[in-house]
Amino acid sequence: MTASCFVFRGTSLLVATQGGQYALPDEALLPALGPPLRRCPLGTLDARPCVSLEVRLETPAPTGHEFVGLRSLFGKVDAPLLTLAGRALQIIDWDRTHQFCSQCGHATILSNDERAKICPACHHAAYPRIAPVVMGLVVREQELLLARSAHFAPGVYSALAGFCEAGEDLETALRREIREEVALEVRDIRYFQSQSWPFPHSLMVAFTCHYLAGEVVPQPGEIEDARWFPMHALPALPHPVSIARQLIDATVTRLRTKSHVTH
Ligand SMILES: [Zn+2]
Repeated sequence: MTASCFVFRGTSLLVATQGGQYALPDEALLPALGPPLRRCPLGTLDARPCVSLEVRLETPAPTGHEFVGLRSLFGKVDAPLLTLAGRALQIIDWDRTHQFCSQCGHATILSNDERAKICPACHHAAYPRIAPVVMGLVVREQELLLARSAHFAPGVYSALAGFCEAGEDLETALRREIREEVALEVRDIRYFQSQSWPFPHSLMVAFTCHYLAGEVVPQPGEIEDARWFPMHALPALPHPVSIARQLIDATVTRLRTKSHVTH
């Protein structure tokens, strides 16, 4: 049976380009790319084995193919394939960065029982790293608090987000991030959804919350601008595939429905 092959050159994925749509390359193409730097089994999708490979940075894309960044796949492949491509990239990255034991320096081996790199000398086990990120959309009446950092595309605003620190629960991390980034206090934190975000290994956990107290003060060096937007006059927003956008859209829909019922 042919395998579904995710071939990475750096963080770019090899895709066949057909009529503006992207597809995974044919397995028969692989020998032409030269011996891979690494090859990691991923499991199966629709009973097809899936494998993630890394090739050398100087590897050219074969005719009819391109190496593209994962963000370029948004809207051009279906969601399960996009998810799997993210997983494939993270597994390759994990394999590359865990060649040696972080405790004693011995070369690691892949475990037969679980997705772990084991040290044969000291038995230390290293698992793929997943970093939880809390995202919070603050609501005040019919307004949403949206912010932008300098690395966003021009004009784009989004919900607030930041990494959890060691020892924090999600709610504490969210309150701290909002306090640090815009100096607000919030209440009624409600879970929305989560999304794996492989840039490079985040797990986005999104919440809504309500404004409690404070005046918006953007954190210097972190937040370029933050302000309250009426829900009928929102700025440019992140890509529809992102959980940030889904969080904003779902909240606007909920507020509209609520204001309908109230009036
Ligand atoms: Zn070790």
